[in-house]
Amino acid sequence: MNLSPLRLSLSCLVFMLCLSCHDVTDTELKVLISNVSIIDVDAGILPNVDVLISGNRIEKIGKDLSVSHVNEIDGTGKYLMAGLWDAHVHLSFEPDIEESMLDLFIVNGITSIRDTGGQIDKVKKFKEEASQKPTHAPRVKIAGPLVDGPPRVYDGSSAGVPDISQGVNTVEEAKQAVDDLVEQGVDLIKAYEMLTPELFEAVVTTAKGHGLKVTGHIPLSMKVQQAADMGMSSIEHMRNLEMSMAKDADKNVLERRALIAASQDSLGYSLRSRLHTSYRNNSILSIDPENKNNVLTSLAKNDTWQIPTLALILSWRLAPWSDTQWAETYDYLPASAAKTWEEGTASMRELPVDPKREIFMTWASEMIGEFKNYNIPVMAGTDCPIFFLTPGFSLHRELEVLVAHGKMTPAEAIKSATVNPALYFDMQDELGTVEEGKIADLLLLDKNPLENIKHTRSISAVIKDGYVHDSQALETLKQTLKSKGRS
Ligand SMILES: [Zn+2]
Repeated sequence: MNLSPLRLSLSCLVFMLCLSCHDVTDTELKVLISNVSIIDVDAGILPNVDVLISGNRIEKIGKDLSVSHVNEIDGTGKYLMAGLWDAHVHLSFEPDIEESMLDLFIVNGITSIRDTGGQIDKVKKFKEEASQKPTHAPRVKIAGPLVDGPPRVYDGSSAGVPDISQGVNTVEEAKQAVDDLVEQGVDLIKAYEMLTPELFEAVVTTAKGHGLKVTGHIPLSMKVQQAADMGMSSIEHMRNLEMSMAKDADKNVLERRALIAASQDSLGYSLRSRLHTSYRNNSILSIDPENKNNVLTSLAKNDTWQIPTLALILSWRLAPWSDTQWAETYDYLPASAAKTWEEGTASMRELPVDPKREIFMTWASEMIGEFKNYNIPVMAGTDCPIFFLTPGFSLHRELEVLVAHGKMTPAEAIKSATVNPALYFDMQDELGTVEEGKIADLLLLDKNPLENIKHTRSISAVIKDGYVHDSQALETLKQTLKSKGRS
């Protein structure tokens, strides 16, 4: 970035003098990004404009703005876009990584995240920490624990199955669980796979009563249409969508309901695995076009959004653990985590590719195009740090996979990580685009991401809540992260 050193130091001096006399006026806090090209996912490029940031807001966008007392950033040849969201994150899933999570997002230009499941005390702490330093941490939205029926899946029964859910057994308990989470300040509710239709309905109705969205996985004892009609707002990983597209969808769902009722002594995690193994590929191989159309029409009619986490689903095909460039992202993890991940991925490399996985991966990739055909909105999310996905870096990877394997255009992929999540949280007047009056959560890029989605990685500066992290500051932060790692 070409900051004028003289202008910067003068401005800093004025700023410091003013600080000492407790008389900070707006003018000293302004930043002007001059002659930059703005990325607009609908209209394309808005070339060669000046963007004036005042405090934490975009004050003005125009040609040749003349403003005094500003820190000027020369945006010539650069691109300015809205800060990115990762809409599927687990801040408290892996204790070894927790301390680095927020910084990993900032260095990668992820200025907002949506936590989709964790113990309430832990994720609340992240949310509080982030809100206390809004210029140096992403905005954090939380779901709290997954609300699950018996036997719940994430029950803490082993290291890979942490206790990040809250079990409910009756309609009363389901309502109470949601009321309690609302009291704790969650931003949405996540419903999970073992809920019965009655419990699921209680969760959705209670959440709606509080004005909160319900996301989650389609419960194994329900059809997609039923969950969408009840008011489920969004679905993670396209989980269990295929089961309602099968020729025998109606018969199968009753069968699963009976199996779950008869398996209450099982561990939830292994019961769920058994049901996925029995029904997932068989459903895909017996898709009935009318049932498929009914599912997609129902999602569109009910405005039920999708967070496909496509890179996660395609992990077995794309094998990021064999990619040396990806392995380098582990340098930014704390040493203990990097070691665990290296050992974990090394063992993955030796596993033969199971052709059965291809059935699901092919179906999942095709669904992205179907969502577009049916006008079903999509949000980019990663599920990091699950399955060796490095926080921050993994969102750029998700965007690339949505384009390469989901056949999205770069503009559509960027929309899924900017405009759409802002809309999802009803923050479209504050975030999601580069427009006057909005919060200055921005990315300054060296290369045009509409030409090549990989260019979202060409980060020259990250602006969070009006504060500029220039390339030097980002490099320092990266080195700090690395120093906690192995190097
Ligand atoms: Zn997840």
